[in-house]
Amino acid sequence: MRPLSEKIAGVTESATIAISNKAKKMQREGIDVISMSIGEPDFATPQHITDACIDALRRGETHYAPSNGIPELLSAISDKVVRENKFPCTPQQVIVGCGAKNSIFEACEAVLNPGDETIILTPAWVSYEPCVQIAGGKIVKHAINSKTFQLDDSLLERVNAKTKMIVVNTPSNPTGAVFDKKSMKLVADLCTDYDLYAMSDEIYEKMIYGKEHISLAAIGDMAQRTITINGFSKAYAMTGWRLGYAVGPREIIGEMSKVQQHSISQATTFAMWGGVAALKGDQSCVEEMRKEFDRRRKYVISELNLMGYETAPADGAFYAFVKVAGDDMEVASRWLEKGHVAATPGSAFYAPGWVRLSYATSMEKLREAMGRIKRVG
Ligand code: PMP
Repeated sequence: MRPLSEKIAGVTESATIAISNKAKKMQREGIDVISMSIGEPDFATPQHITDACIDALRRGETHYAPSNGIPELLSAISDKVVRENKFPCTPQQVIVGCGAKNSIFEACEAVLNPGDETIILTPAWVSYEPCVQIAGGKIVKHAINSKTFQLDDSLLERVNAKTKMIVVNTPSNPTGAVFDKKSMKLVADLCTDYDLYAMSDEIYEKMIYGKEHISLAAIGDMAQRTITINGFSKAYAMTGWRLGYAVGPREIIGEMSKVQQHSISQATTFAMWGGVAALKGDQSCVEEMRKEFDRRRKYVISELNLMGYETAPADGAFYAFVKVAGDDMEVASRWLEKGHVAATPGSAFYAPGWVRLSYATSMEKLREAMGRIKRVG
């Protein structure tokens, strides 16, 4: 047989898979493994959102819809962006896809040419690199300051003639850090000075504890060059709905639309009606989940600190990012094999020496997990 695609062969499988496969195997064997490795809220999707989707199904919303999204959802998103994220947006500047990940993929396809460089700020989420790579681009890693978890002028050193785009993710997966005004301004200035595009992944914007979320596109003229990524998975506990979106300049959305038309066609029609209900309905469900995450966050961080672990700021998202002594893969294996707690080694996020724990699980399980980690060390 002839060799398969070199491009895809060059994409590595996520390092998270080994640990999560092991955890699943142990669970199948009947071992009570507490999973702190998954990035999804443990809450059910709020009822009014599910009801709106069921109503749509009953009404017969089971056919093809406009590729970029149903008009009701496009305008609900653009209204939300203007109101909350505070930058100009029309429904023509929105494209709805099958999850934020799908929008990230399309944005890379739309912006990058072979050899174009994209700066990613590490520790970084696992899918930016493969999306850039599949588009033919190349990632250039820049480690954020590991004490402040903010950016400084050293970022400038990563820019050269091939740099085309920078990816920003605040609040961050995996660190939970939230970029302040100074860091965001630094990115904005860099993009303006060197004519770069920015992809701003703001999917955790609602999970923020005592800090202010700043949208990159709201700074100066950044709306002209920024693709803002967002979605429903985290804020509304809708991971399985596969519903996300991108907002950006019309020219970029137009190119992303071509990728979408020839691949997924559109997001699922009735799921989009759930999205309309999420954005237009009562937002108290979002705040209730945020408050519960905050309660768990305080508990987990204080327990870890009491055990002597250093942790990243944990100002956003639902992750505790923990500094460990020795090899992070070994520590995660020990916690899993001896403590029956599944965590994600930082190496998966270009951060060896750290481990990510998701606190998007019940207080009862978190209490048990902390006890186990304490026991196995
Ligand atoms: N960006 C980040 C930083 C994420 O953590 C995730 C989900 N793990 C996504 C994007 C993708 O979310 P979605 O479910 O909307 O595809």
